[in-house]
Amino acid sequence: MPELPEVETVRDGLARHVVGRTIESVTVLHPRPVRRDLRGPAGFAAALTGRRVVDVRRRGKYLWLPLDTGDALLGHLGMSGQLVVQPPGAPDERHLRVRFVLSPVVEEHASRDPGDGPVELRFVDQRMFGGLSVSQGGAELPPEIAHIARDPFDPDFDDDLFVGRVRRRTAGIKRLLLDQTLISGVGNIYADEALWRAQLHGERGGDRLRPIEIRRVLAEARAVMGAALVQGGTSFDALYVNVNGESGYFDRSLHAYGREGLPCDRCGTPIRRAEFMNRSSFSCPRCQPAPRARRLPSRD
Ligand SMILES: [Zn+2]
Repeated sequence: MPELPEVETVRDGLARHVVGRTIESVTVLHPRPVRRDLRGPAGFAAALTGRRVVDVRRRGKYLWLPLDTGDALLGHLGMSGQLVVQPPGAPDERHLRVRFVLSPVVEEHASRDPGDGPVELRFVDQRMFGGLSVSQGGAELPPEIAHIARDPFDPDFDDDLFVGRVRRRTAGIKRLLLDQTLISGVGNIYADEALWRAQLHGERGGDRLRPIEIRRVLAEARAVMGAALVQGGTSFDALYVNVNGESGYFDRSLHAYGREGLPCDRCGTPIRRAEFMNRSSFSCPRCQPAPRARRLPSRD
């Protein structure tokens, strides 16, 4: 599943390749990726045709392309989605679902890129959990995603607000890191890595954490995701842009995720795996001791 650094790689690539272009035609090859657009595939296509892309923005793992009308093309890559920029006539991808033919770059944006001729923006998705829709009036921030918190790289992310909100919750810190209304973009892998680096067990309740511990895990999330951002940013090519960003978070050295039974890089204790919300959590039993069970209030 693409995580935030991969989605940021997509955003950056699209910003360099599609901004300033006009959507000349839209072909929906499978209805499922546009299912959230209540006007159906034909209405989706009609709402976008002739519109100019003025920017590419991101909130968490959502991307949107503000259009000159004040609307936006809103997208989520889901589990397996890709946004690919191709020269016209390039062979179709096996799971191509939506094709946008984009005009050459208009004058004011020209010469930013050697590939200023027409291109195709393609939405490719094997499993189709992701999708695209037109957000009416969504250029600034689509109302569909206004409830999603900022990600920790957003300049307007408020650390103090985050700490305060975490401390008012009894849920475990890992669950809170994955709560998109508190902080966005921290996926399962990065949560495990940040918790390992901060030496915190994911089941420690938010209300049982000291502010300094919450700040530590936030700093570690930024560190591990920041390293991935740097890597992802190097995976671009000039015009053939595979922007789903399988930029290789498995290439990086992971300390916890996926390392069941392997020695902890800090203390040598075998990493353990636990079930977590239909997925897995990986942690070091020694560096990240499990919290004691909550007790009912007692006299002592
Ligand atoms: Zn350890």
